[in-house]
Amino acid sequence: MTDRDFFHDGELVAVLTTEPLGRALDYRAPAGGCFAGAFVEVPLGPRRVMGVVWGAGEGGFDPARIRPVTRVLDAAPMGAAMRAFLERAADYTLTPMPAMLRLATRAPGLADPPGPRKVYRKGWSAPDRLTDARTRVLEVLEDYGGAAFTLGELAGLAGVSSGVVKGLVKQGAVAEEDAPRDVPYPRLDPDQPGKALADDQAGAAGTLRAAVAGGRYGTTLLKGVTGSGKTEVYLEAVAECLRQGRQALVLLPEIALTAEFLNRVEDRFGARPGEWHSGVTQTERRRLWRMAGEGGVGLVVGARSALFLPFRDLGLIVVDEEHDSSYKQEDGALYNARDMAVLRASLCDAQVVLASATPCLETWVNAEAGKYARIDLTSRFGVAELPEMRAIDMRAETLEPSRWIGPTLAAGVRARIKAGEQALLFLNRRGYAPVTICRACGHQIGCAHCDARMVEHRFLKRLVCHQCGETTPMPETCPSCGVAGRLAPVGPGVERLAEEVAERFPEARVAVLSSDLFASARALKDKIGEIAGGGADIIIGTQLVAKGHNFPLLTLVGVIDADLGLQGSDLRAAERTFQLMRQVSGRAGRGERPGLALLQTYQPEHPVIRAILSGEEEAFWRAEAAERQAAGMPPFGRLAGIVLSSPDVQAVFDFGNELARRDAPLRRIGAQVFGPAPAPIARVRGRHRVRLLVKAAKGAPLQAALAEWVGQLRPPNNLRLAIDIDPQSF
Ligand code: ADP
Ligand code: ZN
Repeated sequence: MTDRDFFHDGELVAVLTTEPLGRALDYRAPAGGCFAGAFVEVPLGPRRVMGVVWGAGEGGFDPARIRPVTRVLDAAPMGAAMRAFLERAADYTLTPMPAMLRLATRAPGLADPPGPRKVYRKGWSAPDRLTDARTRVLEVLEDYGGAAFTLGELAGLAGVSSGVVKGLVKQGAVAEEDAPRDVPYPRLDPDQPGKALADDQAGAAGTLRAAVAGGRYGTTLLKGVTGSGKTEVYLEAVAECLRQGRQALVLLPEIALTAEFLNRVEDRFGARPGEWHSGVTQTERRRLWRMAGEGGVGLVVGARSALFLPFRDLGLIVVDEEHDSSYKQEDGALYNARDMAVLRASLCDAQVVLASATPCLETWVNAEAGKYARIDLTSRFGVAELPEMRAIDMRAETLEPSRWIGPTLAAGVRARIKAGEQALLFLNRRGYAPVTICRACGHQIGCAHCDARMVEHRFLKRLVCHQCGETTPMPETCPSCGVAGRLAPVGPGVERLAEEVAERFPEARVAVLSSDLFASARALKDKIGEIAGGGADIIIGTQLVAKGHNFPLLTLVGVIDADLGLQGSDLRAAERTFQLMRQVSGRAGRGERPGLALLQTYQPEHPVIRAILSGEEEAFWRAEAAERQAAGMPPFGRLAGIVLSSPDVQAVFDFGNELARRDAPLRRIGAQVFGPAPAPIARVRGRHRVRLLVKAAKGAPLQAALAEWVGQLRPPNNLRLAIDIDPQSF
């Protein structure tokens, strides 16, 4: 990239497009010239495509054949820091630049001229007699709250023709309006008084405010138990960022959490922030993308992909629940939003706040080493106390067959119901039963396309593969031996646990929270609101409930199987179990009554279970860190995973073996290659997957060596190769 920022009419410019060409192509600047970073339309063969002026052209071609840029699009040019960020992110993740640019231009109609457009939203009348098609349209509008859609979007989401929507407009049930054409978002007022902060909160907020006001890069780990008031604290950092006239971004791991967060922002700043995730309409996304670039939005709340919005002047990035595995993008460009946030901030003089009760080991180590600042909030806000935690030794409990709630836990649940409080039973398994076995031949029903078992979902009356989503009706006869009536569920999922609860606590109102049981984010949100208001006595949930929800009446958390995450050979298993158990237990006792967490386990003496119970977190992390260090594993060494996949199992292993043999480029940097071995999930959607793991010392130039190494061989047809820097499982 050059530091030139304007190109005159006819000068050579390099334009990067999202076409998989590998590099930027030369064009001539259009009449009137263009800025570096400008969004432009250029001819490519017979087509016209969107691109970004990346810098000066390289020349070296027949000058007569270089074509001019067709036109400059109406969008704020992409700033130099953003372009540098995309380049560095591409280098780090070994993602080609066109794919990187695609992440940054996920705005529908980006290149459209801003002509007049109509949008549709909920109208004033509520007709009581409607066709099914019309009812579906109104349901979509209901699901998305007050959102506005284009005609095509609304009809598409409802699965009806556009005539149906027009009919509703005539009835007054749908309102047709001129689009809020890329207008700025309402200004957030940072000086509106916030909540009075407790002493430790005020201290933390002061430190973060000063860091933001400094206008330089820095990362802070904001560590505090759930309910300690971290959100209130980092909202003060957001306030300071807004005062400085800069933009702020808050990343959340789960769409279901945004609704509550938006309300809190509105309470604090008097207006709502911009919202960016898969549940936001295209119209609104287009507006947010443009306003990020023009500075017409002060605060954006979003999912990991919001990190690639072209902010004009980003001064703060908050990564809430920074340890959450959903920050890792596992498809296409493989990146970890937490790490990319740090990279982006370091290039635009912004501050990063990593908030968590249970940070990931990498973050903890960076804080220990002084690379990140660290602030601890050690007590819960107000009267709320941390829950007491106890293990229940399941070897001493008597369980009837097909029962999973032991007598001790059951007594605890009963006591809560009597007291008018709530109990949460946590089981991280969706569906009815994880395994379906034939009692005649012993066959376990598996997915036809994946190396995974089919999971029975009784509400759906189907078997579902949690890897690829394949579903089949629940069979009557065994697919292997053909005997009828002998298929039986083995082990519990949340649906089966709900059955046990219904039998044993018939008087209780039961709510099951599992992501697959809700048709929309709104339905889930409504349910969560209902539970928070006391609409259930027993809540049964998967890890969906572990994340951030606030249930004031909840005083008992029962973990059905605390050993579940400890099986398997994954080096991160301990860390993950520790995080999840602490997180889920943190749901109890957030109101005025104290909480209790009971963990059912068959191995109460396991070091991880003991660390969870004792709450000696620092000791736990120190031990984990020492183990990783001894093994030369991240963050003390570097890892990359190479995942090869193909429908042809022989071909993937052959290719993997050939790569492993040609390891000279890796050996030159002292790196080792392991494998090929079946990937953690060995078959997905009919493709066999094998993985090679490359392990290098911390400072080694891993990316360059990897590029040279895989560049030696051309994958055969139908074989895909994906490079995963810093894989999540190892
Ligand atoms: P965390 O993000 O650490 O889980 P929150 O910021 O969500 O904690 O705070 C937990 C609860 O305590 C929330 O309901 C929040 O509104 C409340 N709370 C936190 N700090 C204050 C404060 N200073 N004044 C009033 N309520 C507060
Ligand atoms: Zn499958």
